[in-house]
Amino acid sequence: MDKLTNATPTTAPATLDLGILKESLTMAQRNGRACVQCGSSDYPLKPAGMLLDVAVVECDSHAWERDAAANPPTWLTKPCPAWCTEQHRGGDHPDDRQHTSVIHSTDLLTMDFENFGSPTKPEHRPVSLMTDLVQGHLEAEPRICLNDSTDKGTSYYLSLAEAEEIAAHLLQLVAAGRGRTAHQGEDAA
Ligand SMILES: [Zn+2]
Ligand SMILES: [Zn+2]
Repeated sequence: MDKLTNATPTTAPATLDLGILKESLTMAQRNGRACVQCGSSDYPLKPAGMLLDVAVVECDSHAWERDAAANPPTWLTKPCPAWCTEQHRGGDHPDDRQHTSVIHSTDLLTMDFENFGSPTKPEHRPVSLMTDLVQGHLEAEPRICLNDSTDKGTSYYLSLAEAEEIAAHLLQLVAAGRGRTAHQGEDAA
């Protein structure tokens, strides 16, 4: 029985003077070229509704803030790990409830290029090998996902220990391929 607090509106107070707010806008904000909240003109800018007769826009982070406040990810049981770049929503499908990092991508320039266009409009580009961290919101530890930029490849999910082992093998092979093992390299230094 919390009727008093529930009765208090938590969104836009009715006393807000939109006229004063509109007067305070810069020319860029009035013309839809800058965020109505912070004045940022960084792309992307998204429609943020009308301020009286002015169609205003807002920057990505303010659009996200407003959307998240209206639709918070209540399924999140703890804060995101520091590496997560995901913008979680309350309505995220259970399969999408995972933390993801930035994606590291390397073009494989010595391999045959793939046609990323169509048979009639070919667009030949190198295949990229991509790695990123992923963790389902209830999983104990993240894994590293390894896949390529084609849609026919397999995605490999490596535990952190497995990824560490593979990374060490790669470095050993690189050192050997360059005509020096890691140990010889250390001796020479
Ligand atoms: Zn903004
Ligand atoms: Zn997250």
